[in-house]
Formats: sequence, structure tokens, C-alpha cells
Amino acid sequence: MSKQEDRDKHSSRLHADDTAIRKQVKIAKAHGIEIKEPHKLVKHHALDCGVPNCPMCSSPRKTYKQPTIQEKSFDQTKAWVDEGELDDALDKMARLSDEMGLGLYDEIDYIKKR
Ligand SMILES: [Zn+2]
Repeated sequence: MSKQEDRDKHSSRLHADDTAIRKQVKIAKAHGIEIKEPHKLVKHHALDCGVPNCPMCSSPRKTYKQPTIQEKSFDQTKAWVDEGELDDALDKMARLSDEMGLGLYDEIDYIKKR
């Protein structure tokens, strides 16, 4: 016998899958990709192939232990700023991110470690 709680969980699971499919179909449509089997988009995104550790679409940090494009960009920005100014700038950035409710702590820690 299924309880009301179980039925609610089941229907919210179905709804979450439908929403995920609709979202990925929309993304595919915007990129001009024809989708023949939309149900497959429950398990992978429209713009990647769905193969784990695929060299073309996975994070270079995970597959090759190389910095991502964003991390390279942080390193370039760091090179522009003097060391003394950097700590002040990072503290200011942390304060602003705190005020604005952005969770930039990982990024700020990453820059400080380099
Ligand atoms: Zn791929």
C-alpha cells in the first residue's frame, strides 16, 4: 500500500525529470541541435556527450590536473596586481561578496593559495 507521502515523492520525481528535460530541450533548440530522443536528456546535458571523463567536454582540472579557463584568468589578474595590494583587494572582495550574498570563498581561497 502506498501512502500519500510516497505518492507525493513519486510525482515530484516525475516532475523534476520533466522539468530537466524541458530545460535541456530549450537549450538544445537555442543552439540549433535537433533532439530525437528527449528522454535521454534526463541523464546528461544537451551540450555535452554524456561520456564520463570525456576529454572534449569535462573539466581539465579533473581529467588532466590542469587549471580551468577561469583559474587561468584568475592567475592573469593576479599577475597585474602587486602582492601587497592583492591581499587588500581580496579582503575587499570577500567583504563585498559577503554583503551581496555571493559565495565566492572558494575562488578567493584559490587566489590566495597561488
Ligand atoms: Zn564529450
